[in-house]
Amino acid sequence: MAKMQRQGRIIILLGPPGAGKGTQAERLSSSLAIPAISTGEMLRQECRSGSALGLAVQELLVAGGLVSDELIQKVVADRLAQPDCAQGCILDGFPRTAAQARFLDCFLAGSAFTAPVVFDLAIDPQILIDRLSSRRQCPVCARTYHMTLGASSSCPHDGSELVIRNDDQPATVKRRLQIYAENTREIVGFYRNRGYRRVDASQPVEKVTRRLLSLLGNTGESADLSRPLVAAQQLYA
Ligand code: ADP
Ligand code: AMP
Repeated sequence: MAKMQRQGRIIILLGPPGAGKGTQAERLSSSLAIPAISTGEMLRQECRSGSALGLAVQELLVAGGLVSDELIQKVVADRLAQPDCAQGCILDGFPRTAAQARFLDCFLAGSAFTAPVVFDLAIDPQILIDRLSSRRQCPVCARTYHMTLGASSSCPHDGSELVIRNDDQPATVKRRLQIYAENTREIVGFYRNRGYRRVDASQPVEKVTRRLLSLLGNTGESADLSRPLVAAQQLYA
């Protein structure tokens, strides 16, 4: 039987809520020309659209709980099958449990994707609290901003009034961090010897991106990120 030609790299971003997964996923996405897939954002979109799925998960999301493995696995499998993922993608927020990591492993083994690269965005919990309490999101384009003193309360992209995510309220943040802590050891154990790299996520945004790209072998730490760094075909050649 002919051997399957593997192409398309999956980059997994692990890390607690507020570590900067979404921020880095978007930046890697523009540099590498592969889509950033945020399972949290997909679920929030379902909630906003009022779909049956959105209605079913809304309460859970607001309370900071996890949706079921089966449900999110189906959402991810469907998304990975879309044509824009053919050259790979960046997964932000998945896997979040050991069962999801095992599922992804089986899924990738039976697909044309190569083994994933796993970046664990490590950060001091105190910085997380600050980042989450200062996070604002545009309800229209879903872009995320860090509010600093005197910053505008409207989205620079489309002018919409920025909002605090329901699950960024202090009590919910505590629950989400607890859930993360309960699951993280097993997930890290799963990936430890398989493409796993720990990255210091307390650094400024640009520096974290440079580090990730450098670990991906795309660029030195001094790269100019205002230009596309590498064509996706080159990266996966
Ligand atoms: P996650 O997706 O891991 O929950 P986000 O990417 O939404 O995290 O980042 C959480 C908040 O912290 C956002 O308001 C974002 O603008 C801000 N942020 C992300 N990375 C950094 C960084 N390296 N330094 C300072 N603030 C950051
Ligand atoms: P995030 O945007 O990654 O912080 O995710 C927001 C919320 O979406 C989480 O608190 C969960 O309720 C839900 N969610 C996102 N990804 C997953 C996942 N892989 N497994 C279960 N629930 C998830």
